[in-house]
Order: sequence, then structure tokens, then C-alpha cells
Amino acid sequence: MENSKICIIGAGIGGLSTAIRLAATGHQVTVYEANSYPGGKLTELQLGDFRFDAGPSLFTMPSYIEDLFSIAEKDIKDYFQYDQLDIICHYFWEDDTRLKAYANAEDFAEEVEKQLGVPAKEITDTLAASAKKYHLTGTTFLEKSLHKSSTWLSSEVARSITQIPMLTGAVFQSMHKDNQRRLSHPKLVQLFDRFATYNGSNPYKAPGMLNIIPHFEHNIGAFFPKGGMHQITLALYQLAVDLGVKFHFNQTIDKIQIKDKTAVGIQINNEYRAYDKVVSNMDVFPTYKKLLADQSQPHKTLAQPRSTSALIFYWGIKKEFKELGLHNILFSKNYQREFTALDAGTIDEDPTIYINISKKYVPADAPEGCENWFTMINVPANNGQDWETMIAKARTDMIEKIDRTLDINLKELIVCESILDPRSIESKTASYQGALYGTNSNNIFAAFLRHPNFTKKIKDLYFCGGSVHPGGGIPLCLLSGKIVSELIQAS
Ligand SMILES: Cc1cc2nc3c(=O)[nH]c(=O)nc-3n(C[C@H](O)[C@H](O)[C@H](O)COP(=O)(O)OP(=O)(O)OC[C@H]3O[C@@H](n4cnc5c(N)ncnc54)[C@H](O)[C@@H]3O)c2cc1C
Repeated sequence: MENSKICIIGAGIGGLSTAIRLAATGHQVTVYEANSYPGGKLTELQLGDFRFDAGPSLFTMPSYIEDLFSIAEKDIKDYFQYDQLDIICHYFWEDDTRLKAYANAEDFAEEVEKQLGVPAKEITDTLAASAKKYHLTGTTFLEKSLHKSSTWLSSEVARSITQIPMLTGAVFQSMHKDNQRRLSHPKLVQLFDRFATYNGSNPYKAPGMLNIIPHFEHNIGAFFPKGGMHQITLALYQLAVDLGVKFHFNQTIDKIQIKDKTAVGIQINNEYRAYDKVVSNMDVFPTYKKLLADQSQPHKTLAQPRSTSALIFYWGIKKEFKELGLHNILFSKNYQREFTALDAGTIDEDPTIYINISKKYVPADAPEGCENWFTMINVPANNGQDWETMIAKARTDMIEKIDRTLDINLKELIVCESILDPRSIESKTASYQGALYGTNSNNIFAAFLRHPNFTKKIKDLYFCGGSVHPGGGIPLCLLSGKIVSELIQAS
């Protein structure tokens, strides 16, 4: 198609990816961002001498970032560098069981055999099954629009469909049941069930197909950008600027202008600005409720239940801990009870705790002898709960659990604190109910019920980011930009 004037609402990862791809194919792209900075959830926080990556901390699928530089014909090394992690995660249980998830599958399997007495083959078989699921269905369900007939008529999809009988267990069983079938130790089942939380879902409800997720982390690898996660945002923003994308910060779009069932521009402070095409990187729920309030609403899609949110304590800690790494998980004693509480809109008294310490790779992120702890638990999306009371209780429960597990007195070590909760996630990024990943994947149809990257009802309007297809998390948000730019190219 000929080059167009395209407006993108929001400079989150999906918006940046879309902007880069469209600018690289010659379109005139303008991005409007409500905040004073790009990146949305992928931002940073400075607390005195401590720096924190404020949102995402796990970096997988760097090839999707590499792709953006190669289509822009730029050398990624001039913008962005990253290392592969040797140890993906340090796992802790309160009964003193410790497990290092090595990146090398044989080392990981050997560690599991040593620490849990489980035959190494269970791990290698589980990772192989995860790889198989990805190879059979990954490109179909993640890299293409599910709502275009061209997708369903392609030979790749025909091949995927013929494989469905081989995947029935994975499709019709929960992740938990699928893991239980394969793994003999309850701690290993818990470890693999945890991957449901990577898109804010519940392993006891989400289909076994989600057991594709460990493939990304264990078979392809976990990585860390030099300088921290925020470098992803800075690199993509700079690449977009270098390709000629125009950014307007502190600009909240009020309305998408529709004429004759076609998006023709946007409205900001009662001023109308014309564009050939509009892409919303704003969460799809408020996009409809606020920017398209006078248009017909996809009620069923918008009513899909939201993913979980997060409660994060950013703590400056005046001590260093050798046994902790970049990613650490302190598991709960009763995993199922945690998810029952989340489903009921509350927080269990013994939640699984994730501690991310970027200082392990970026020494400047905390003063000498100190560490920057990003300490997070999964919490329900915001439905108007009494967050002040819930946060105060969770803080006490978390500190006590960390003390019990690591045998320390954490309260004495915290020198500064900042908190992020579902309400502040919502107010900072307009994510409905503060959900981290849009809608959850707790049923087999979730992928099909997620909003597509376009709408049949309004021409020249597109959607990217974690609340639409293919879903949340950095890799999928990057792919949403790929799908949108391909749809626009084909229009
Ligand atoms: C605490 C936390 C931990 C996470 N951990 C991980 C992780 O480890 N790994 C991972 O891959 N993912 C993780 N995620 C998820 C990941 O951050 C998101 O899926 C992804 O960053 C969302 O990108 P997005 O494109 O949907 O845009 P968002 O980040 O949601 O940004 C949308 C942008 O649009 C702007 N905007 C909204 N409305 C308007 C308007 N009307 N006008 C102008 N601008 C507007 C907002 O200001 C915002 O900047 C985490 C998220 C959080 C919050």
C-alpha cells in the first residue's frame, strides 16, 4: 500500500514495535503518549541511590527485538546489547529445599535429580514436550491474526490443525493436570505450574497448551539487557526516532474520530487531527469505553476476565546476599490455595514471592554492600478492594515469609521503599483494573476471545499491545506490532 500518515496512541512496547515497523516501511508515523516518557509498563524507578526496573524483569525472545533492528537496517549493537543467563532462576522452599534452574537443560535436569531425587529424564522430557507444542502451533497462534481467513487457509495452519489430536491432552486438560501427568514431584509440578503466571493466569484452569511457555525460557533462553530492562525501551525509542517517528509526550488522546465507519483521526483537547490510519496501543477496554464511546461496543470481548495484577515493593536493602541471583522465587506451601484466593479477589496469607535483583548484573543499581530488591506477588485485578488493608497485611506476610525462608531479619535491612499496586498500574498506564497482561488465559477459547488487532466494524483502525492478540508480555506485545504492520501493509 502507498505510504500513509499513521497515528499511534501510546508508546508502550506494542506501540514502539508498531511505530518502528511502519516507519521502516516508509509510513509517516506520529506517536501520542500520555506520560512524559516512553515504554508504558517497561520503565524504571530511581529511589535515592537505588535504581529499579519498575515493570518487566524477565527478558525472553530477544530475536523479536533483533528483528526490529534488521528491518530498520540498523546495527543493534549501536543501540542495545544483552547477555544470556547461565542460571535462569533460583528457587526456594521453606523446608530448605533450594534449586537452581540452569539454562543448560542437562545441568538443570542433573540439579533436579540431586535436589529432589527425580530422574533427570523427567526434565528433559518435559522441556521436549514444551518445544513440541511450540513447533506445532506457536507460529499459528502467536505470529498471525486469528481473525483473517488468510491465516486459516495457509499450509502452516493446515499442518497445525492436523496435529491437534496429538495435543488433546494439552488442549482439554489444565496446565496443572498436564504437568502432574509428566512430573512425579509436587515441587516440580509447582515449578512448572508457575509459568501460568507469565500471562496472569491460573494453572489449575488454564489449558495445558500454556505449557508452551517454559520452551521460551528454558529451550530458547532467558536474557538480560546490559544496563537493565529499561534499556529495551530506550533502544526502541531511539530506533523509532532515528527512523523519523515523531513523539508527542504528555498528550492524552480523548477520542478516535470516526466518519463513515472509518477512523479518520484523533481528538486531543478538543482539537481534531487528521490521520489515514489510527493504531491504539491503549488497553482495548478504555479504548472502547473512552475513545470510541459513541461506537458500537464488542461487549462479549470486553467482558472477558482480566489477568492478575501485581503488588511490588521496591526495597533498598543494606546487605548483599550470595545465595540470591537475578531472579528468585520463594514458593508458597499451598499453591492451589493462592490461586483460589486470587480468584476470590483477595491475597493468600502465604503467597509465592518473586525477588528480582538487577544489581547482580548492573553493579551501579545499588550502593556498595547493598541490593535493590524488586519484591513482587501476584494479586487480583482491581475491583475496588480495600487495598490499603490488603497491602499492609501482604507486606507483613511477605517480610515474615522471606525471614523464614532465608533466615534473616529483613525489616532491619530495608532503607527505602516505594510501592506499585493495581491502582497505580492502572493510573500510570490506563490498563483496565491494573491487569498486567490484558485478559487471562483461563479457558481454552481465551486466545480466540481476545480482541483482534483490527475491527471489522471500523476501517483503518488497529490495535496493538498486551490487551489484544496475541496477548501480554514483552515478546507478544512486540509480535502485536508485527501483525498490525502486516495488516496495514496488506490493506
Ligand atoms: C510489574 C510488572 C511486571 C511484569 N513482568 C513482565 C516480565 O517479567 N516479562 C514480560 O515479558 N512482561 C512482563 N510484564 C508485562 C509487560 O510489561 C506488558 O505486557 C507490556 O509492557 C505491555 O505493553 P503494551 O504495549 O501493552 O503497553 P503499556 O505498557 O500498557 O503502555 C500503554 C501506553 O499507552 C499510553 N496511553 C494509554 N492511554 C493513552 C491515551 N489516551 N493517550 C495517549 N497515551 C495513552 C500509556 O500511558 C502507556 O504508556 C510485567 C508488567 C508489570 C506491570
